[in-house]
Amino acid sequence: MAFKRLIRIAIIRFASFFYFTKKSKVIFYHDVHDKKKYTYMSTPLQIFKRHIQIINECGYEVVSEITKDVGQIEICFDDAFLGVYENIEFFKYQNIPFHLFVISSYIGRKNYMDAKQLIELSKLDGIRVSSHTHSHKPLNEMKKNEIKRELKQSKEKLESLTGTPVNSICYPKGRFNKETINIAKSVGYKKQYSSLPGFYANEFAENVLRRSLVQYAKDNEFKAILKGGDHILSYWYRLKHFCR
Ligand SMILES: [Zn+2]
Repeated sequence: MAFKRLIRIAIIRFASFFYFTKKSKVIFYHDVHDKKKYTYMSTPLQIFKRHIQIINECGYEVVSEITKDVGQIEICFDDAFLGVYENIEFFKYQNIPFHLFVISSYIGRKNYMDAKQLIELSKLDGIRVSSHTHSHKPLNEMKKNEIKRELKQSKEKLESLTGTPVNSICYPKGRFNKETINIAKSVGYKKQYSSLPGFYANEFAENVLRRSLVQYAKDNEFKAILKGGDHILSYWYRLKHFCR
C-alpha cells in the first residue's frame, strides 16, 4: 500500500476520535464487482457488503436522498459502470437504495451501462439517476457556454431516457468553481454534489453538498469516515477541487 495512503488512513482514524455525532453523510463509490471488474476504481462486493453491515451496526439508515441532518447515509455511484448493473440482485435483495451519476455521452460504451440497462435500473424503487455531465471533462476548464451545454444536454438526455426529472449533478473529477455553481443552478439543478468530504448539513455553498470517497476503505477506515474523520482533509480537497 502506498505510503501516502497509509498516512491518509492514520490521519482520518486519529481525527475520527474527535467526532461522536451520527450526522447524515453522502458517501461515494465508482463500481462494485464480484467476478468481472470494469474499472480499477471498483470495490469488491465483499468489501461493499462489509460497509453496509457497518452502516447498519452504527445505526444509520441508507436512503436514496437525505432528508434529515442526522442518522442517514446516501450512497452514490459515479460514472455508471457495468458492475453495479450486474450486481443489482444484491441491491434488490438487501433493499439498498442508491444514487447513480451518469455521463450521458458514455451510455453504451465498453464497460458502461447501455440505455436499456439504465432505464431498467431507473424504474427500480430507491434508485435515482442524475447527471455527471455529458462528456466528463472538468467543468472548470470550459468556457461559460460550453459548461451550459454540458449541463443542459446531459439533463435532457437522461430525462428523456428515464422519464423522470433530473435535478442533481456531480462534478467530473470533483472540479468546480463559482461560475459552475451558478450555471448549474440556472440550468435547473437543485443539488450539486462535490467530492469534498463533510457532513450533509455542512454545505460548501447553497445546495452544494459534500461527499466522502469510500471505495477503497477497509473496516477501520470506513468506520472513521462515517464518524467524520476525513473532514480534517477538507481544506486540502478544497485546494485541489475548488478552482478559479
Ligand atoms: Zn466521474
